[in-house]
Amino acid sequence: MTSANPLPPSPITPTVDFDRDGVQHGFLRLPYSRDESAWGSVMIPVAVIRNGNGPTALLTGGNHGDEYEGPIALSDLARTLDPKDVNGTVIIVPAMNYPAFRAGTRTSPVDKGNMNRSFPGRPDGTVTQKIADYFTRELLPRADVVLDFHSGGKTLDFLPFAAAHVLPDKAQEARGFDAVRAFSAPWSMRMLEIDAVGMYDTTVEELGKTFVTTELGGGGTARAETIRIAKRGVRNFLRHTGILSGDVDLHETRWIDMPSADCFSFAEDAGLIETMADLGDPVAAGQVIARIYPMGRTGTAPAEIKAGHSGILAARHFPGLVNPGDCVSVIAVTE
Ligand SMILES: [Zn+2]
Repeated sequence: MTSANPLPPSPITPTVDFDRDGVQHGFLRLPYSRDESAWGSVMIPVAVIRNGNGPTALLTGGNHGDEYEGPIALSDLARTLDPKDVNGTVIIVPAMNYPAFRAGTRTSPVDKGNMNRSFPGRPDGTVTQKIADYFTRELLPRADVVLDFHSGGKTLDFLPFAAAHVLPDKAQEARGFDAVRAFSAPWSMRMLEIDAVGMYDTTVEELGKTFVTTELGGGGTARAETIRIAKRGVRNFLRHTGILSGDVDLHETRWIDMPSADCFSFAEDAGLIETMADLGDPVAAGQVIARIYPMGRTGTAPAEIKAGHSGILAARHFPGLVNPGDCVSVIAVTE
């Protein structure tokens, strides 16, 4: 990156050495002076498992602080990955937006920063922007392959899928879809991002890296099934790239995509939501998939949410009450 005014260095100091062989558990230390701690820091956990000069995988969860399959699977991996099974380097950050993760919220309680809208970040910006900048300028240049776990968080619930993006560079796109296949979630998504500005995904892909993301459930929790999918998926991802020894444990998957904005439905009313289709159910364009009851009185007809596209229900609003503008449902098209 060239600029007339080069960016200052990142304020983050790692307590680990990314070039040292073996297992290290440490922190990315970000100075954050505040009322409770005058010379305090945000301590973002990081693990490095390295064995020689092979390729590097960067594995992240907690990009949004209320999504749990990633942090669980990555905490397990960081504790159990044996360097003798590794050829190269595995960098694990289970909770990327650590302040948000500690608060159990999607965005950071420090600055309201949404990590996945904060890239490429700024070394002189907010806490969230400083973390993003560290990934952009320090961690991503080390990585060959990148896996970022997401789930629906407190407000959405998803069919469990791994995803890669449709990209202008078709060789890079194919590497992404091959890695999604290896991850072996029950569903695999070809994603066309409608609003990609500020996303980690976009920064990773612009740097030419092979990138896989996921949506593995939601509701502000993690289920045994989705945790199993995450644990198997991350090891499969590492085996596929040759960083972890052993064969990919390939499971059946069904490919889906979201071809247009018609796939998304948004509430226009506040109220009590009646879900009329479950995740994975087939739906036809025009079918009523949810109703929203006004809460203040009886005898008023509910507003109807109709499917804008035929396919299957891939995501739905999770809490029982909705507000205008909330995403109520997402439909995916099966191949
Ligand atoms: Zn997320």
